[in-house]
Amino acid sequence: MCGIFGIYDHPEASNHTYLGLYALQHRGQESAGIVSSDQKQLHHYRQMGLVSEVFSRDTLRRLPGRSAIGHVRYSTTGSSELKNAQPFMVDYARGMMAISHNGNLTNASLIRGEMESRGSIFQSNMDTEVIVHLIARSKEKTFLERTIHALRQVEGAYSLLFLTEKEMVAARDPLGFRPLVLGSLKDSPVVASETCAFDLIGAKFIREIEPGEILLINGDGIKSFKPFPRKQRHQCIFEFIYFARPDSFIFNHNVYEMRKSFGAQLSKESPAGADMAIPIPDSGFPAALGYAAQSKLPLELGMIRNHYVGRTFIEPEQRIRHFGVKIKLNPVRELLKGKKVVIVDDSIVRATTSRKIVKMFRNAGAREVHVRISSPPITAPCFFGIDTPKKSELIASSHQVREIQKFIHATSLNYLSLEGLKKCVRGEEENFCYACFTGDYPYPFQTEI
Ligand code: 5GP
Ligand code: MG
Repeated sequence: MCGIFGIYDHPEASNHTYLGLYALQHRGQESAGIVSSDQKQLHHYRQMGLVSEVFSRDTLRRLPGRSAIGHVRYSTTGSSELKNAQPFMVDYARGMMAISHNGNLTNASLIRGEMESRGSIFQSNMDTEVIVHLIARSKEKTFLERTIHALRQVEGAYSLLFLTEKEMVAARDPLGFRPLVLGSLKDSPVVASETCAFDLIGAKFIREIEPGEILLINGDGIKSFKPFPRKQRHQCIFEFIYFARPDSFIFNHNVYEMRKSFGAQLSKESPAGADMAIPIPDSGFPAALGYAAQSKLPLELGMIRNHYVGRTFIEPEQRIRHFGVKIKLNPVRELLKGKKVVIVDDSIVRATTSRKIVKMFRNAGAREVHVRISSPPITAPCFFGIDTPKKSELIASSHQVREIQKFIHATSLNYLSLEGLKKCVRGEEENFCYACFTGDYPYPFQTEI
């Protein structure tokens, strides 16, 4: 997963890109970068770390110009190192170009293998670099035409921003897996993964960029192109469940309202005889609100999150790893003693966190711990940009719900049903990808796993 942001023709382009990335930090915490254009050349800065750590007044000053694109990264393909940080920038025969990519290409390694066998040299191990090579090799006349030529050859998920000396191009893949929104800051076009980035800089949301749409933004304004055959949308339902920020509007809905409706539906399907409902911060909050309201249970903040935990430097040390959850979450003992609680979270991936959380509730004196999950069991890995682990690490790929309940020591465990999830997007259910729950991928492809 990643977050991308771009702004065209504004006197404070890199400052606004920095703020936009700040608002998109939840989409990736591994690295951050900005490329700006001063019309003559591109300027580049990227580092490992959070947006607040990566940029300073000084580094932002070294990103001059009226246009910029940025990126926050959460590695999906390619390892966690600086050469894989984005935006990716190159200087090629026709000038300079930079690219910010959110998503995952499913035929990148095929194309790359072919190119390497013919002598191409790659600087990173990101799938994104394949697009750059395809553009550089294209014989088409304009940057837009070269970009379309390149995108015709790739498959998979992409929401993209390109920057050249004079132009910005935004593109969303024909299936529309990842969100991408268009706005304006006074007269300057802005593009971002989510609308929460617009709110921070005071930009107006105009509309979502459509699946298969390419926007050319230059001195003549914004032009829209739809060069690909129309396809059935496959917007990622996990953006609603977990990934996007609740204050954002994407895929035609506000994320918060959507999550609340998942929680309400979950309560209809799986009520729990409990004294209170408790959200698991932060991702479980909206669903827990919906669950509590629907089941007429008091909502209590029985688990408190420390908001100042960044990535803890002790994390990689296996010996003290169990510290990870405790450092972030702590239950409110006085509230829990002798009580029957239903805790609501958005998803279970490996179940290691959920197991620790249930244990914390029990240690704090809760008598019964019912667990409700506002998504169906995740049984299949995502190849379209969500960093879900291998199939073998997904507990629901090999265990029944009752077995998972035992593993996490819950009094009861229920997930939202797939039908229930689809009910919440009624009328649009065909527009979403549910492959992580069903293993039905939208098209056949080769994987490296
Ligand atoms: P588990 O019990 O599977 O170890 O962890 C479940 C928790 O992981 C849930 O609270 C859920 O919000 C969170 N989660 C779900 N997907 C992701 C993801 O892609 N990245 C991270 N960091 N957490 C996730
Ligand atoms: Mg969570």
